[in-house]
Formats: sequence, structure tokens, C-alpha cells
Amino acid sequence: MPGTEIFGKEEKEQVMEVLDKGVLFRYNHDKERNGIWKAKDFEKEFAEYHGAKHCHMVASGTAADCLSLAAVGVGAGDEVIVPPFTFIAPIEAVVNCGAVPVFAEVDETLCMTAESIEAVITPKTKAVLLVHMVGAMAQIDEIVEVCKKHNIILIEDAAQSLGGSYKGKMLGTFGKIGCFSFDFFKLVTAGEGGAIITNDDDVYETAHTYSDHGHSHQGDNRGAEEHAILGTNYRISELHAAVGLAQFRKLDYMLERLRANKKVLKDYLKKFPQITFRPLPDEDGDSATVLNFFLPTQKEAESVAAALAADGVASAYWYNNNYHFIKNWDHLKECRVAAPVGMQFLDKPQDYKTLELPQSYDIIGRLVSINMKITTSPEELQTICKTFDKVLG
Ligand SMILES: *Cc1c(COP(=O)(O)O)cnc(C)c1O
Repeated sequence: MPGTEIFGKEEKEQVMEVLDKGVLFRYNHDKERNGIWKAKDFEKEFAEYHGAKHCHMVASGTAADCLSLAAVGVGAGDEVIVPPFTFIAPIEAVVNCGAVPVFAEVDETLCMTAESIEAVITPKTKAVLLVHMVGAMAQIDEIVEVCKKHNIILIEDAAQSLGGSYKGKMLGTFGKIGCFSFDFFKLVTAGEGGAIITNDDDVYETAHTYSDHGHSHQGDNRGAEEHAILGTNYRISELHAAVGLAQFRKLDYMLERLRANKKVLKDYLKKFPQITFRPLPDEDGDSATVLNFFLPTQKEAESVAAALAADGVASAYWYNNNYHFIKNWDHLKECRVAAPVGMQFLDKPQDYKTLELPQSYDIIGRLVSINMKITTSPEELQTICKTFDKVLG
């Protein structure tokens, strides 16, 4: 949980400014707020950092996923191509906007590929919700091309790859809209929070309007405006934005430390012939939160992850994880929902129970991930390396 490792006075100062002189609400109250606008400041800095025209902050990464679908016009009956290896939020977002998730295989990049996406396109495909999974990028050039060729909207979920880039261009800026999360477990945390970025003026206009009940956000006359559209409430509070802003200003430092620590570990592990690494389309743009590697078989990966954990090396074995891989998504397979959703009313609903994704099962079965930390000391890194000697040597 990198961001929380270096919580300090900066986060407290930002929050205290809001509590002392500001207003908890992110809009209006121009006179009372004494010039304190944390969500707006965060949006400006976040957009600039990414080289994006617009940013809009929201209450969570899940809200960002939902908002991005709404803002580009994905809704009832549309198909959205999604990966089977992702935190489940993007899938829920697709279901909850009335659309239908259609799964495409991931490869060793741990992301969907242009080929796997193209293989599941149908006349109903409206968008691809691409997840740049566990700390690095998909083969984005090829995916952009395939979306263009088929006239499909590309949405990037970069919640797990904040600060990542491909050939110098930030992840989240390749498609029509990019989504981020600042929940407690993410690189930059606001406690809870999320963001979308886009270069498209219309998408941005719909996004900020939709995320706040259709308010126009013109002038200090909240409630008196015409309402353009029915919306909802995905607003972030000034308190969360304040924490996120302080954390975000530490992002480059976090990335620098994570990249250095990851390099030490990766270089050390190169001596083990049984390990292969996740291919990175651009190694320099890796956001470095996780070191991912494969073992030759599912059994070996499972036992190595368990042995590392037993010796105190924090690792993830996603294959058996309830929230990040489709294998254990029984609620989706059995369509257990709180209330009826659009995908149940299709002439031919998707059958997720019998859906086969052999490539993804093989790859995720052999995957082990080591969580990188900002504050790991050289001595601690050596201890981790020694543990690998013991487990793999
Ligand atoms: C964490 C995460 C989300 C959801 O973010 P929340 O802020 O927890 O709602 C969405 N997508 C991915 C890939 C994530 O990892």
C-alpha cells in the first residue's frame, strides 16, 4: 500500500486548510470558502500531469468506471469488452449501466490484447474497457488501432497503473477517457476517491454534469440552473480531495523509489531459470507497484507464493483470489444481483458459467506478484532476495 506508507504532515495540512477556512462541499459557496478549492486544484494538477485537457474527480474508482461508461454513451443492450483478470469493479460498472460484459483473454502482459479483443467483437460492441493491470501497460498501440478499425470506443482503467506511461505518453490518455482510483489500497490514496481524464470537451461536459445530478457548474447559482440531463451523485468531498492532492504531489517520488526497489529485486531474480517475467511493452513506463513473474506450472506458482508468504514476503497469487480473477466470480456466473439488470433480458444472455478462457486460466495460474514498497530498505531487499534463494534455490 505505497501511498499510505508515507502519510505525513502534507496530508494533514491540506485537510486542516479545508477544516479551518474552507467548505466541505466542492462546488459553490465562493464567499465562504476563502479561496480553498481542493477538488479543483487536484483536477488541474492531475490533468496537467497526464497531458490531458480535462480531469473530473469523483468519489471512487468504481464511480469513475460507471461515469466513463455513461459519459461516452454506453448503456442498455450495449456490449463492452472486459478482461477476466481485473479487480471486479469495471465488470460491475458495465452490468450496472445496463450493458453486457463480454470477456476477452489476457496474455502474458496480464492485459487484453488487440487479437483477443478483435476475436469477441460483435455488431453490439460499443466499447472496450481496457484495464492496465497490476502496475503496467497493455499493448496499447495495437489496441488503439483495433478500436479505430471497428469504430469502438476505448476506455482505459488505469486504477492500478497510475503514473505509468507508454513511449512517454501517460496511461489513461490513449482512449476517449481514462479512469483512476484513490482508494486506500492504491498508489495515491485519498481514503476513497477516483478520477476521469479526457481530451474530449463533450465527454467532459457530460461527465461533470452527470456526476452531480445534472448541475451545470456555471457560476455560483447552484439549484437555479436548467438541468441538462438526469444524473446521479458521484461527487468527491473536499476532505478526500485534500488528502489526494497531498498524496498526488508525492507520486514522482513514490515511482522513483518503487522503480529502484523493483529493479534490485528483478535483477536478482534473473538468475532463477524457472522464472519468466511479464513482458513490458515499455519498461520505462512501468508504474512499478508490483513485480510480476511466472513459473512453469500452476502447481509451482501456488507453492512458491505460499512458501514466500510463509517466510514473510508479501505476494499475491491471483488465481485463487476471490476478487481479481473470473475463476471465483460465482456471483457473476450465477447472475446474483440485487435487482434485475439489463443483461438478463437479452434474447441470448451471455453464459458466463460455461465460458472458457483457457489462455487466461493458464497464465494467471502461473502468475505470482510481489508487492513493492516505497520504504523498503536495502537490508530488507536483501532479506527478500535471500528468501527467494531458500524457496527457489
Ligand atoms: C481499485 C480498482 C477499481 C475501483 O476503485 P475503487 O476506488 O475501490 O472503487 C477499479 N478498477 C481497478 C482496476 C481497480 O484496481
